[in-house]
Amino acid sequence: MKHRTEACFSSFSSSCFSTVSLVMGRGPRLLSLTSSFSISFCFFAFLQDAVFLVVVNGNNNPNLMSWTPIDHDLYHSSNLMEQIKALVQRHPGKLNIETVKSRNKGYQAEISVVTYCREGRESDDGSKFRILISFGQHGRELITSELAFRILSILSEEQFLPNMSPASLNSILDKLVIKVVPMENLNGRKLVEAGDLCERRNGRGVDLNRNWSVDWGKKEKDYDPYEENPGTAPFSEPETQIMRKLAVSFDPHVWVNVHSGMEALFMPYDHKNTTPYGLPTHQMKLLLEEVNHLHCQKHCVIGSGGGSVGYLAHGTATDFMYDVVKVPMAFTFEIYGNRAASSNDCFKMFNPTDLTTFNRVLNDWSAAFFTIFKVGPRLLGEVGSKVLPGSNLAKWVSIDDYLDGYLMERSSRYGKKMEVLELGIQEIRTYFRLFLLSSVLLMFMFCARISKSKSNRQVIASIPI
Ligand SMILES: [Zn+2]
Repeated sequence: MKHRTEACFSSFSSSCFSTVSLVMGRGPRLLSLTSSFSISFCFFAFLQDAVFLVVVNGNNNPNLMSWTPIDHDLYHSSNLMEQIKALVQRHPGKLNIETVKSRNKGYQAEISVVTYCREGRESDDGSKFRILISFGQHGRELITSELAFRILSILSEEQFLPNMSPASLNSILDKLVIKVVPMENLNGRKLVEAGDLCERRNGRGVDLNRNWSVDWGKKEKDYDPYEENPGTAPFSEPETQIMRKLAVSFDPHVWVNVHSGMEALFMPYDHKNTTPYGLPTHQMKLLLEEVNHLHCQKHCVIGSGGGSVGYLAHGTATDFMYDVVKVPMAFTFEIYGNRAASSNDCFKMFNPTDLTTFNRVLNDWSAAFFTIFKVGPRLLGEVGSKVLPGSNLAKWVSIDDYLDGYLMERSSRYGKKMEVLELGIQEIRTYFRLFLLSSVLLMFMFCARISKSKSNRQVIASIPI
């Protein structure tokens, strides 16, 4: 979820928030946006307000000055990935892990993908139900990666769900291939661990949930580059490129993008305040209502991301999964939020800070995912789309293949030309918009130059020789 900055100082203009942010350790990026005059003005205004607060209250307001550090008794550091690799190595018959690296203009990123498939990759015939889940797309949402670890521990049978026997669990899992991305934004996560607790973007300041091509780059009135920088173009970021290749090659039936900041079960769309039409939408709603009833005590918000969260989000992963990859069930889950936390106390706002809540969140949401594993195939079987037993359309392939140009080969190998075409159309549409914009600008400059030269000539003509 996007960070909603509260007005700590109601008398400040918006440019003053830059100065306040500087105090909170978030300043350098915003500093450049502000003129030196407004910085000086705001600095003195801030000093004035600070002195006023101390004089009036006799003490500092704890909400303004305090923030909660990461509790390493509850949370792993980024060594969580090492723990997950060790878990996978202990269960080679069920789990495997691939790490994909990608580089762009000197910026390198890597994403590890854990695959659960009970009988191993060789025996997979493409008839299984495919689920792709991503965690940790935003650096500051540490709880989501902890949930990934919990789900993988249950899949490997090192941990157990309270109300499910191993036999019934296995009968559900037999039919599934599950790919889990435990920490999509490793570089952003490292920034958070280094002390930038409000950072949600990747290692070079791009929001990985605004870098996808569906309605990319559109900015709302409350656009804040600290929160939502979409990058220089759709898929400009290595992380998003890796995730796109993974999604297109795996071709999942269910996609879940796991976040924190509130408690909600979102379906498309994020970039408009409506849900898609038709039977698949009805099935998505049924599944979310069941999860809400069983695991969220009916207090999770359900609906389209754009219609329910309070703002529209453009260029999101879930909209791309639904619109372009044609994932019939595409969701964004928000698994925890603390509205009482102050706006600069990001760790507390996005993550449970006591053991009881930490365990409750992990227990409730891991159970929610196993409900999806159980109910999702049944509901989608009723729709019939994408469930094609024995079809080689859905063959499980290594994502390494993609790095060798698998994406384009796939169009001829599987006859899924439309999908690749649609990927292209989304990007062409964006470039066409940019082209139109630059053409208008050029025309404007050209006309301005002509009218200027005309007026100059008149002036010269009026001067007596
Ligand atoms: Zn998020």
